[in-house]
Amino acid sequence: MAEHYDVIIIGSGAGGGTLAHTLASSGKRILLLERGDFLPRELDNWDPKPVFVDGKYISKDRWFDRDGKSFQPQVHYFVGGATKLYGAALYRLRPQDFGELKHASGISPAWPLSYDDFEPWYSAAERLYQVHGNAGEDPTEGHRSEPYPWPAVSHEPRLQQISDDLAKGGYHPFHAPCGILLNEARRPESTCIRCATCDGYPCLVHAKSDAEVIAVRPVLDRDNVTLLTGAEVTRLETDDRGRTVTGVVVSRDGNREVYQADIVVVSAGAANSAKILLNSAYDAHPHGLANGSDQVGRNYMFHNCLAVVALAKEKNDTVFQKTLGINDFYFATKDYQWPMGNIQMIGKSNAEAMRGEQPEKTMFAPNWTLADVAEHAVDFWLTTEDLPVPENRVTTDKDGNVHLTYSSTNDEEAGRLYGELKKILNHTGMAAHHVLRKNFYMNMSIPVAGCAHQAGTCRFGSDPATSVLDVNCKAHELDNLYVVDTSFFPSIGAVNPALTAMANALRVGEHLLDRMA
Ligand SMILES: Cc1cc2nc3c(=O)[nH]c(=O)nc-3n(C[C@H](O)[C@H](O)[C@H](O)COP(=O)(O)OP(=O)(O)OC[C@H]3O[C@@H](n4cnc5c(N)ncnc54)[C@H](O)[C@@H]3O)c2cc1C
Ligand code: SF4
Repeated sequence: MAEHYDVIIIGSGAGGGTLAHTLASSGKRILLLERGDFLPRELDNWDPKPVFVDGKYISKDRWFDRDGKSFQPQVHYFVGGATKLYGAALYRLRPQDFGELKHASGISPAWPLSYDDFEPWYSAAERLYQVHGNAGEDPTEGHRSEPYPWPAVSHEPRLQQISDDLAKGGYHPFHAPCGILLNEARRPESTCIRCATCDGYPCLVHAKSDAEVIAVRPVLDRDNVTLLTGAEVTRLETDDRGRTVTGVVVSRDGNREVYQADIVVVSAGAANSAKILLNSAYDAHPHGLANGSDQVGRNYMFHNCLAVVALAKEKNDTVFQKTLGINDFYFATKDYQWPMGNIQMIGKSNAEAMRGEQPEKTMFAPNWTLADVAEHAVDFWLTTEDLPVPENRVTTDKDGNVHLTYSSTNDEEAGRLYGELKKILNHTGMAAHHVLRKNFYMNMSIPVAGCAHQAGTCRFGSDPATSVLDVNCKAHELDNLYVVDTSFFPSIGAVNPALTAMANALRVGEHLLDRMA
């Protein structure tokens, strides 16, 4: 006899973990099924070699690209999901991102809800995840109903200098919104120690606002919340009509287990959520669950990104570098008719991590060692929106494996943004020809592996012919199936996706509480 719950949530990351947190106080019986385990706390957490060179915390999964070639995707199966490794840059989408935006490669479609609809949920998510930021600095940000709960993380001297130089050059640098448990006013009480091993590393002292620390752990002592780790959901079973999920099939310790709930929420990450639905094909849903419109798995996005290292003669001794953002090119400018995207900092390079990435020799100083390059590097992360293209999609084969077909969009915009960065560098003592491309999130042999910002695959919308989910993120075709990870995004904008997934999980959480009341 399968065990029965009020709600089963599959996946404990930004979407699923946040949803579990918001439902926990209702007293409803909640089962959180997580494929991974708790990420071990160990010195390796902060060691670039195991993290970046050996890929210790990356799943051993093999997926397949469009040519059938297998690759190791950069996915992280832990309680807290990808947020365990994330850079905690917690941005809101811009108000215009919720509307239709024209791009060089086509249209970024409108969402069924507006920024105003999301705004209260963004505020709630920022409160929960203790986001640091300064409202009013970023010229593209939308209105806010409340200030950031914490003041922005301060710039260290080199970043302050870059920010000042940019402002003098007529740009509008801002303090990047950031989710770390840093109390700069009272450092002895601060959980975060402001270290150099944050972006892309797990936090050894649990001071990152990740979904495990902020959302999952705090509710685990409740009698009504059960977390099962090592519990990989392989398929969902439905009634004969295919309207209701009646069983969640789990592989755990080599055994097949089945769990039941009134409401089932899939939140396994954009690719894996599509995998679960596609692998649940059955007589009533021959092409996969919730897939009558053939939309499940389609419109996969993960940003058109570029990590670059700029070299200056002076050393960059910044410890925590991810404090600055530039959105002057987020939309069209007077010189360019298309949106280009966001520029932000990433974690400071270090020689050990670079060894894993094999950077090109620098023309700047051919005799420099990797340590010299890393010491002088200032590290930027460029994000251009990629478009939801139906052919960019997740499918599964007869053995249930993920196949990812992806072709980039908006390459012209991304190239233009890179050009703008080079111009910017002239204002900051880093000449344009001293810029190296580097693969940081994408240190795999083929770009599709760098799926850190994966989204799409089950988009929400009002038309069942073109979307998988309704505006409450319930599957159009089923009465009790929801999806609350980044799968629901109809477009991805050009800022990091996690805060939008967290805000949406809080929004859907309120809907579920109303439904169960
Ligand atoms: C290195 C790195 C840096 C990043 N930096 C940032 C950043 O600075 N800012 C930002 O906004 N975003 C960042 N991201 C992206 C961000 O982490 C993701 O957008 C976010 O975590 C997505 O949330 P999600 O709920 O969709 O998926 P996830 O958080 O990945 O959660 C999915 C969960 O489902 C579990 N799961 C998968 N399959 C199954 C299954 N079959 N059964 C049970 N459980 C399953 C997984 O183990 C995981 O716990 C970064 C990501 C990475 C990898
Ligand atoms: S900067 Fe703070 S949150 Fe990030 S890893 Fe270091 S201690 Fe943890």
